[in-house]
Amino acid sequence: MEPLLKVENLKKYFPVRGLFRTIGYVKAVDGISFEINRGETFGLVGESGCGKTTTGRTILRLIEPTSGKIIFDGKDVTTIKGDEMKEFRRRAQIMFQDPYSSLNPRQTVFEVIMEPVRFHGIPVDDPEEFVIDLLESVGLNEMHLYRYPHEFSGGQRQRIALARLLALKPEFIVLDEPTSALDVSVQANILNMLKDLQKKYGFTYLFISHDLGVVKYMSHRMGVMYLGKLVEVGPAEKIFENPLHPYTQMLLSAIPVPDPDLARELKKKRARIEGEPPSPINPPEGCHFHPRCPFAKAGLCDKKEPPLVEVEKDHYVACWLYAKS
Ligand code: SF4
Repeated sequence: MEPLLKVENLKKYFPVRGLFRTIGYVKAVDGISFEINRGETFGLVGESGCGKTTTGRTILRLIEPTSGKIIFDGKDVTTIKGDEMKEFRRRAQIMFQDPYSSLNPRQTVFEVIMEPVRFHGIPVDDPEEFVIDLLESVGLNEMHLYRYPHEFSGGQRQRIALARLLALKPEFIVLDEPTSALDVSVQANILNMLKDLQKKYGFTYLFISHDLGVVKYMSHRMGVMYLGKLVEVGPAEKIFENPLHPYTQMLLSAIPVPDPDLARELKKKRARIEGEPPSPINPPEGCHFHPRCPFAKAGLCDKKEPPLVEVEKDHYVACWLYAKS
């Protein structure tokens, strides 16, 4: 498969200001590289504050990167401006966790959907029919056309937000925790709808979530982030079956396993790590994970950063247990 998106050594540092000067940087995204193939879903997971949301927003240039490259459909979009940027904004969209804050409460559903269509100059013969078609494709209908966002449930608001995205015929969508504010039953409907739309329109998704069960259900490949870095990248099935990085093992050990024998077996094999991630302002030297890692080697893990290496086909890990020092 050909990649639609390539991210090369992407960094986003936020300055921390003291009274008179910058006293440090939050390294929210710290030199990550990955690709997303056309029509696939790439899941991005990690604890809150690991940099996954900043990654999604930086790729879309909603936040300007500090350095690195974003290649979209073979073109470097890291510094594009004007009309090129406008076209990139149409082709690459984002769906937020809380649709209510992204829907103008004073606009009807019709206006919410038509506003970006007009902004991008997309020709539409019959706007009402166009919007009704979009609403039907997300499980709503013409009864909803002139109602306001506050009249809808959270799940319905996500459907409206999705209809607005579809109106622009995007190719790439960042799904930033799109269902974490919804009830479990509604979550499943939205996730299934996202999958159906992907099949129908060939969308490419970056699926950001802290919920591993949801990432497993949605993703073809995935990346695990820890303190601004990618520590494991590979096919989702492989990572869930055989997580290699101690941090990924920790994340997975938190998912309940229904079979008690398997749960005992996994408990023996996988790392159990306690504690909170350190501050991203002054992350630990070497492997950022070493203060929490039961396998840390003194003099190596606390001194030298491990490279991301291919351990088995398409499965990459940044850990000295798998790389030559
Ligand atoms: Fe643990 Fe060392 Fe691997 Fe980091 S590099 S995850 S500290 S074993």
